[in-house]
Amino acid sequence: MRTLLIAGNWKMNAGPTEAKELAESMVAAREGKDDSQDLLICPPFISIPAVAEAFSGSNFKVGAQNVSTEDNGAYTGEISTSMLKDAGCEYVIVGHSERREYYHEDDSLVAEKALKVLKDGLKVIVCVGEKLEERKSGNHEKVVKNQVEAVIKQVDKSNADNFVIAYEPVWAIGTGETATPEQAQEMHAFIRGLLSEVWGDDEAEKIRILYGGSMKPGNADELLSQKDVDGGLIGGASLKADSFSGIIDIAESI
Ligand code: PEP
Repeated sequence: MRTLLIAGNWKMNAGPTEAKELAESMVAAREGKDDSQDLLICPPFISIPAVAEAFSGSNFKVGAQNVSTEDNGAYTGEISTSMLKDAGCEYVIVGHSERREYYHEDDSLVAEKALKVLKDGLKVIVCVGEKLEERKSGNHEKVVKNQVEAVIKQVDKSNADNFVIAYEPVWAIGTGETATPEQAQEMHAFIRGLLSEVWGDDEAEKIRILYGGSMKPGNADELLSQKDVDGGLIGGASLKADSFSGIIDIAESI
């Protein structure tokens, strides 16, 4: 069985002071719980050191929400993989739908970022997911297939242990609307099939495929119980220690 990954994406919320307090309250909420699933928080870049310090000695890991494809130099406003490692990050999210939508990141840039993250020894969470009109028109599998294949056809299967996919239907992100467990399972199984075609069954079985889109304590059980749902990428509900901890409790009970 794959170890679940419960990952929080704080987006552009929580500067260093607030992030430190929130991270500390998350650690306090898990005290004495002996968690066995993987726990991750991805704060804004500027809050990463504060969160890494608050998490030291705990089961929580720290990640980033984005990264540059460059090593260093004249790239104003960018952050490199080596900076993230220096600050204590282990994971990087790439291709979040908000980056695709507002910052025009396309499949080829997402693939380039994923390759860079893996080459430099970090774990990558590649986000994919269809928009509402794409689901309504029955094109959701085609859209997700293109997004997944753009990355996995370029990544060597030896990276499987460091590779995570997050299926996040765009219509479910921050909307309060969640994919049904059946819709999630169907798409996750489809994605695992794509992985299997390119990397083979053994590697495909290792890859964690997270669900993201309005996951909260009230719906986490039915989503995380699905065979091919290996954790969650959680936005809104990761901004409160009690709700994130509630989702972790559910993950630990599965
Ligand atoms: C996300 O931002 O990845 C996300 C899933 O957000 P929310 O949980 O708020 O829908």
